[in-house]
Amino acid sequence: MKNFGYVLATDVASALDALGSRPNARFLGGGTNLVDLMRRGIEAPDTLVDITRLPLDAIEVLPGGGLRIGAGVRNSHLAAEPLVRRQYPVLVQAVLSGASGQLRNMATVGGNLVQRTRCGYFYDTAQACNKRQPGAGCAAIDGFNRMAAIFEASEHCITTHPSDLCVALAALDAVVELRSAGGVRRVPLVDFHLSPGNTPRVETVLGAGELITAVEIPPSPVAATSRYRKVRDRASYAFALVSVAAAMTVDHDGIITDARLAMGGVAARPWRARRAEAALIGQPASDETYAAAADAELATAVAQSGNGFKIPLARNTIVATLRSLATERIPA
Ligand code: SF4
Repeated sequence: MKNFGYVLATDVASALDALGSRPNARFLGGGTNLVDLMRRGIEAPDTLVDITRLPLDAIEVLPGGGLRIGAGVRNSHLAAEPLVRRQYPVLVQAVLSGASGQLRNMATVGGNLVQRTRCGYFYDTAQACNKRQPGAGCAAIDGFNRMAAIFEASEHCITTHPSDLCVALAALDAVVELRSAGGVRRVPLVDFHLSPGNTPRVETVLGAGELITAVEIPPSPVAATSRYRKVRDRASYAFALVSVAAAMTVDHDGIITDARLAMGGVAARPWRARRAEAALIGQPASDETYAAAADAELATAVAQSGNGFKIPLARNTIVATLRSLATERIPA
């Protein structure tokens, strides 16, 4: 590993100053992705600015309702918080389905958002990867692409975003708070990550001098009836083949009154399924409705050579997730 400098920041202003005044500096949160990549020589910052001591580790109820999650909150803390467990089950289930217990104890909410969007070839420096080396090509396109995207893949990169938490946050209309020397800006989470297009190396809209300080979820009564379902090759420590974050309310007549749906494992960004949502609201809570909603969303899906199974898998996972939510909600 290349030698690097280390700065311990104690407040947001000093962290931003340390980043801005040193060339090729990076923030260090839990380090569960960045340090891994540094060990392999894929990332090589000259300075790490440690932000784990910043006062960004609170989970608070917002004055008008809703939730503010500090960017430094550890994933295990978020999953254990009683308020979150009660009102946002989809968040808890998403966090607990990701990585391992040890990693969740270290990983932060802010870091989860900026972990690299990658496939196995990204880690293998003997293979071509446009994300690691722009212009090199993409070994996955004619290679092992079972995990690849079915939405918005480009001729330069076909990988998927690995986060589970971000899929749940996308379903709940979360907003990312970013701070820089110039002030604060807020970006909807669904606009924070980018599709690969011609520049797969650029994965988010995070600016060079910006720090993620919090994620906020607006008041969302539907979140109390929510679920995260992840389909993967192993029972733990595996990225999603397909995942579904869903929240839904059903009235006493069995009509769907509100629905939120997002998918993971299908694109380079958490995929908010708005076409499916539109096909659900106002319709009877039935398998036929869920299947029609899934079909509406998946109409534009395009498979690679090795991942055609993802399209029916996504359909089945959407139907199963919504069915389980409706069973919970409809009075006997
Ligand atoms: Fe690299 Fe993306 Fe191709 Fe994977 S899919 S090899 S990350 S360019």
